[in-house]
Amino acid sequence: MADTKIEVQQGDITKIEVDAVVNAANSSLLGGGGVDGAIHRAGGPAILEECKQIRARQGGCDTGEAVITTGGNLPAQYVIHTVGPVWSGGNSRGPELLANCYNNSLRIASEKQLQSIAFPNISTGIYGYPKPKAAQVAVQAVKDYIKNNVTSLQRVIFVCFDAENLKLYERLLHE
Ligand code: ADP
Repeated sequence: MADTKIEVQQGDITKIEVDAVVNAANSSLLGGGGVDGAIHRAGGPAILEECKQIRARQGGCDTGEAVITTGGNLPAQYVIHTVGPVWSGGNSRGPELLANCYNNSLRIASEKQLQSIAFPNISTGIYGYPKPKAAQVAVQAVKDYIKNNVTSLQRVIFVCFDAENLKLYERLLHE
């Protein structure tokens, strides 16, 4: 097993130099606001082209699932698009679906033999998932994945856009 390091940094995920950045997409795969809009803007039309091809093949992407495209003009080689759950007041499947986003993204990256991946704070923007709860699920999911799977990944980076998330992740990772 690779000695995978989990890191946290504050910043803009479109600028991170990793093998794959993860996009908090929506199920249409046709782009949206937040980090999704930023990735498509910075990465250019090649990403949307591949998303449309995937959509034609499999009709979008379900919540918790993930698909991979080129990184287009991004420093990252690939974008892994995953669809987080919309917060709906703590229904029982929320944590499971959010954990699936991390697991499925890590699995796809491992299948491609990638060494580094960067995640945004999935579902904590427009989709309204409370940041402390989302951070807990995210960190636990990544730790469990690394423990239970063989992976090529050497670095998993949580890229926090805001100071609140940065603080939450730093606390959880130093426990
Ligand atoms: P969701 O619909 O899954 O909630 P959002 O894009 O609205 O997706 O938000 C997810 C997280 O991504 C939020 O914490 C938001 O602050 C963050 N975010 C927005 N833009 C960027 C960016 N350029 N780089 C990294 N994170 C970003």
